[in-house]
Amino acid sequence: MITVEEHLHTILRQIEPVERVVLPVPRAHGLVTTSEVRSRADLPRFDNSSMDGYAVRREDLAGASSESPVLLPVVGDVAAGDPLPREHVPGKAWRIMTGAPLPLGADAVVRLEDTDGHVREAKFRVRPDLGANIRRAGEDVRTGDVVVPAGTRIGAPQLAALVSAGVEEVEVVGPVRVVVLSTGDELVPFGERVGPGQIVDSNGPMLEALVREAGFFPVHVGHLPDDESATRKEIHRHLHHADAIITTGGVSKGAYDIVKAVLTGEGSTTFVEVAMQPGKPQGFGVLGRRRVPVFMLPGNPVSALVSFEVFVRPALEDRAGRRISEHRATGFAVTSWRTASERETYTRVRVERDPTGGYAVEPAGGSGSHLVAGLALADALAVSPADSTGVEAGTEVDLILLRPRREIDGRLAADEAHAVGAAAGTGTPRAGA
Ligand code: AMP
Ligand code: MG
Repeated sequence: MITVEEHLHTILRQIEPVERVVLPVPRAHGLVTTSEVRSRADLPRFDNSSMDGYAVRREDLAGASSESPVLLPVVGDVAAGDPLPREHVPGKAWRIMTGAPLPLGADAVVRLEDTDGHVREAKFRVRPDLGANIRRAGEDVRTGDVVVPAGTRIGAPQLAALVSAGVEEVEVVGPVRVVVLSTGDELVPFGERVGPGQIVDSNGPMLEALVREAGFFPVHVGHLPDDESATRKEIHRHLHHADAIITTGGVSKGAYDIVKAVLTGEGSTTFVEVAMQPGKPQGFGVLGRRRVPVFMLPGNPVSALVSFEVFVRPALEDRAGRRISEHRATGFAVTSWRTASERETYTRVRVERDPTGGYAVEPAGGSGSHLVAGLALADALAVSPADSTGVEAGTEVDLILLRPRREIDGRLAADEAHAVGAAAGTGTPRAGA
């Protein structure tokens, strides 16, 4: 048996980032920039008003106060989007809207609230500071300045910055397109009748969701019978287009463990026993001309999930040119539990925010790797080292979160809100809500 760390190392040293691509900015959402991106424009693009009010020259409002307002004639309106270059008229004001270009020569904007708001001649109750309520061209970023550094994952804020800055295309590490293949004669796809001896393929939808939630792109989710030639053909077909392939099932010691039979000796493929519980039988290899990483995970649903978290996720992140660790955390055990000796153990646990702000952790959903319904009760996996045989109440545990932190943190409040609503007779839960 090899350690989890050794197997992960074997995988990661064979992983290369996928090819760079140039994409229109909105399509680069979720992808990582390969070089710094510079602004094509000053932002703001022109001096403009940050308030609805009047553009003035400060010197024209000497002595203005609420006791002795100053009256100025109004030249006209400047609206947002107004393309005409306006000019300040000495001794007068322009009525101006938020985002509208500042008339040339004006040096301050007086808020509507500090005037009587009149259209033809307005009374001003304040003398503004120089530059008051003016957004200056280039105060945000200047043409040629870096808007987004290299190695940044483009999220919603970066999209807003890039499109505003007049950037049309960006070079990014390409989307990681993942193929998911379940194997097993006993499996029927979701939606079809389940006959005697059959079960629903849950690894397909589960891995598809894991891949998507992690910010990668599931491009094909299929199911294969325990048949050597069908399996070989299907895997080879996907080597032409996939950036990663995940198979489940068929990697242990059974007579019908087809994936192992078919892929042994292909590319860099190795099948190993990893000192972990669950998830012991693992296969991995880089296959074909395009050097596609193929993850051959065990079939039990919990084993497949744990294998994804421990091996596949970090590898796909390297492939995408990024590392995100937001699903790792630590918590405190509120009870004691046993773990497998000489194996790194991943215990399904329920996690709650305790009153001190820490995560309180206790086992939930059972420990058999086939317990797929129990899996739904787990918020996280508690990771225990191979050299321990149990977790003591009150000790710290490492967690791999299976749901976003904000959902775990928010649950208490949501539960309470629901309980209060139910007590008042208003919070009747609907099925599936
Ligand atoms: P295997 O590794 O193929 O021997 O499968 C181990 C166990 O996981 C068996 O009980 C299978 O029926 C089950 N299993 C395999 N693949 C899936 C799947 N896609 N969905 C649900 N259970 C599966
Ligand atoms: Mg099988």
